[in-house]
Amino acid sequence: MSLIPSIRHDWSVAEIEDIYTAPLPDLVFRAQSVHRAQYRSDEVQGCMLLSIKTGGCPEDCAYCPQSAHYRTGVARTDLVSLAELTDAATRAREQGATRFCMGAAWRDVPDGPPFEAVLAMVRLVRGLGMEACCTLGMLNQEQADALAAAGLTAYNHNLDTSPEFYGQIITTRTYDERLTTLARVRQAGITVCCGGIIGMGEDRGVRYRLLQQLASLDPHPESVPVNLLVRVPGTPLADLPPEDPLELVRTIATARILMPKAFVRLSAGRLSLTDEAQALCFVAGANSVFLGDRLLTTPNPGAMHDHQLLSRLGMRLTTGVAAAPTNARG
Ligand code: SF4
Repeated sequence: MSLIPSIRHDWSVAEIEDIYTAPLPDLVFRAQSVHRAQYRSDEVQGCMLLSIKTGGCPEDCAYCPQSAHYRTGVARTDLVSLAELTDAATRAREQGATRFCMGAAWRDVPDGPPFEAVLAMVRLVRGLGMEACCTLGMLNQEQADALAAAGLTAYNHNLDTSPEFYGQIITTRTYDERLTTLARVRQAGITVCCGGIIGMGEDRGVRYRLLQQLASLDPHPESVPVNLLVRVPGTPLADLPPEDPLELVRTIATARILMPKAFVRLSAGRLSLTDEAQALCFVAGANSVFLGDRLLTTPNPGAMHDHQLLSRLGMRLTTGVAAAPTNARG
């Protein structure tokens, strides 16, 4: 059996289980072999994620402190100004980020001035020479096309979990609605950022099905964020027991093997990981981290700590950026 799989979209659950449950040294070796065929082993991409509109979201995602359904103490804010965005993006670039992600707590994107402001933000980030990613909720096709024309590199819309477990996490938006938004993003020529969360009380079977869903997308998402639940007081998942970090390592390694060309992003939850567990995630094929001391509204290791960790590992941040969508104007 070759360690370097061809690009496939038809992985069975049994095949994914075989990969996921392999002895850890075998799994990590296989994932690292796949990783090295696509990427340098000593580089990860630095991203920065800014909440451009915080709190008050009408969705009921059980993990999310920004949902209006839960009392989490997150203050609601209006859309940030272009000046604030410029400051944050410039700081991100100085800290080594090559991708700047903007998240707004919307169910779907309101047309009119808020959307025009987001388009201006996308143009601004691109003008600073960084990849621009947005996560704004559901999009219609016109909005996706307008984001592409503004030069948006990627749109994040996570599947979060398996179709079967999904109803225990979110009831206000369907799995199919998520897939529809992803199809519109793809149709617009924007790259897809789509991943999930582990540690929400799911079993391994749920993770196999999430990974199967992600790998069934054709083409694969260019970006696959793998999040470890941050158990925020006030959310329904706050009292769950912590997830075993080695399950995160297995999830990352399996994602790397199933979607060889994707950027697999070690995302939320890093503060609950030791440096050694994070190192193992990189060895398992994660090649991106989010810099900065906040990830939307939850805490994150600061950029200084990340630079020190990468230095200890003999690794570094990438410097290249992806091209704009082919239909970008200006
Ligand atoms: S994850 Fe996004 S859509 Fe869900 S409640 Fe939070 S902000 Fe709203």
